[in-house]
Amino acid sequence: MFHMADADDIKKGRLTDIYFKRAEEILKATGKNPLVKAEIFLKGFPNGYKWGILAGIEETVRLLSDVDRISIRCMPEGSVFRDFQPVMVIEGKYLDFGKYETAILGFLCQASGIATKAARCKLAAGDKLIYSFGARRMHPAIAPMVERSAFIGGADGVSTTLGAELTGQEPVGTIPHALILIMGDTVEATKAFDKVIEPKIKRISLIDTFGDEKFEAIRVAEGLGGALYGVRLDTPASRRGNFKKILEEVRWELDIRGFNNIKLIASGGLDEEDILKLRDIADAFGIGTAISGAGVLDFSLDIVEIEGKKISKRGKMSGAKKVIRCENCFNDRIILEDGMASDYKCTGCNGEYKEIFTEAIKEGKVLYDFPQASDIRKNVTGKFKFLEL
Ligand SMILES: [Zn+2]
Repeated sequence: MFHMADADDIKKGRLTDIYFKRAEEILKATGKNPLVKAEIFLKGFPNGYKWGILAGIEETVRLLSDVDRISIRCMPEGSVFRDFQPVMVIEGKYLDFGKYETAILGFLCQASGIATKAARCKLAAGDKLIYSFGARRMHPAIAPMVERSAFIGGADGVSTTLGAELTGQEPVGTIPHALILIMGDTVEATKAFDKVIEPKIKRISLIDTFGDEKFEAIRVAEGLGGALYGVRLDTPASRRGNFKKILEEVRWELDIRGFNNIKLIASGGLDEEDILKLRDIADAFGIGTAISGAGVLDFSLDIVEIEGKKISKRGKMSGAKKVIRCENCFNDRIILEDGMASDYKCTGCNGEYKEIFTEAIKEGKVLYDFPQASDIRKNVTGKFKFLEL
């Protein structure tokens, strides 16, 4: 069959790195199974990023929900976090959860990488829309995770049917080149789309298949009249020259013919840098590999307490910690987890710090409320005023 693990494989710990299994065997043989606290944090972001968006929490909670006596305290999914900040503390008998380290980190590292990139793209886009069109760049088995992570990070829509279902949204799409090639003409294909597809779906034509974008834009605009919502330019790199100029020219030609309401959608190998350059002229962006294939964030999981004793490896501060945050100036502080936010004043504005950690699992009982993807996304985009690219 396909080269993929199923949920049962993950739940049973079959996706563990072998050295955890061996450590387990040795601990069992020597009669050691201490109560430990372990912390998950990131030592540094790629590409000079200053912040990340935490994702993968829901899957991690689901993975650990059956583990006896385990407790999880963490930032909620969609939280903004910075390097060296603990995002999760796991407390339990080591043998109960040690073998899940590979899977836990896998959930968090990839989902957070995608959510972070999506947030960067949406932040760059401002009030323009971004859609995640990159499911095709990843193994289809993980497309729902990829698209949910893209959505909670800030993407306005995702393209696959199952991915959209998971986010509670309608999938978003335009017209593939294949349809235009088979129909033989851009206007004919767009007219057929308009005739066949249910009216609530926006009519967006694709105008780079056969002819110049300017002339194709005019043809479909005149051919479809008021029915046309937008045109997508997926101009191949070999023809691109100055993509912004092409978009400006199309906009001009549409406007002088009274088609000011027709939106311009840009796609094709774009990332947040391109969005910044094009956002004044494009109304929406289809983003592929930049989001779905975003680099992972390298979280690590480290023991910080054993049987109540604070201990950790070199390069890591011992003791289980948490992050408290000033919601006024977005300044953070890391304190021991039994400390109180109210004991500190914000070093940025002298305001109040707030607790941001949540108790996701307490001694085996799941307390996490599994928020809707749309609510997580709203929370993420609400923090953009504090963030810079
Ligand atoms: Zn403050």
